[in-house]
Amino acid sequence: MLLQQLALVDHSKSLHAADLAQAVAALQKQATRDLGPIWGIKATVDAFPDIKNVPVGYWPIIITEKIDDPTAAGYHADKHHQPYAFVQLEKGWQLTCSHEMCEMLVDPFGNRLIASNSIKSGQGRVKYLVEVCDPCENASHGYSVNGVLLSDFYTPHYFDPVASPATRYSFTGALKKPREIKKGGYLSWYDPQTKKWWQATYFGSAPSIGELKGMKDNDSSLRSQVDRLTKYPGKAKAMMSAFNGNAKNRKTNFESNKAEGSHWEDVMKKHLTKKK
Ligand SMILES: [Zn+2]
Repeated sequence: MLLQQLALVDHSKSLHAADLAQAVAALQKQATRDLGPIWGIKATVDAFPDIKNVPVGYWPIIITEKIDDPTAAGYHADKHHQPYAFVQLEKGWQLTCSHEMCEMLVDPFGNRLIASNSIKSGQGRVKYLVEVCDPCENASHGYSVNGVLLSDFYTPHYFDPVASPATRYSFTGALKKPREIKKGGYLSWYDPQTKKWWQATYFGSAPSIGELKGMKDNDSSLRSQVDRLTKYPGKAKAMMSAFNGNAKNRKTNFESNKAEGSHWEDVMKKHLTKKK
């Protein structure tokens, strides 16, 4: 199995070293313990203070202060088709990093399609773009690792033909059946009969299905095109309200970290203080 190596880069230069370290520790745990076994992936995730420190061959997730161009956020590929992503530094940036990380690890090049039955009546077999976080991307479906809120992601069973109660469709169990979309999420696919791209979105009060216009037969990856074309005006607000709901739980977790830290300080004091 090839090792996939991700670099979390603080381009904003305004994150505390401790915040970056805590985020990368949580992301590494998610990659190794949660995502890896389910999708058959082996990956490392490390933090770097500057893009110039990133070793050759690592795929960077770049945290930046402000993204003026709204189409710039998310996944991209460079001229050699190598993946990278931009994440805006705002409340919940760790959740966005987790989203980009999971999708990059499962489909580094943003073009992986899986055939399954269409969720739109009248369509037969279609090809779904593999974006493991999109249908369950809302913060309310996320889960906490070491007190850091990370994104839920779907499993390969998400494309099963039938639902079974004993099957895990997403890591947190938020998705209860194949090709389900939770509020705040979406799913994109290509229909070989209409020769068109389609998208199911659940951004308002109910899910709706429509043609995804603007997909081009060019060099840019399917994911970067879908990212650019998916319009979700209320997204940040919806994500944040759910995020705030999780805040108390995370605060308690950080209190545990702090308490454990003073334990280690005592241990160090015992060993490192000069004996009289
Ligand atoms: Zn996505």
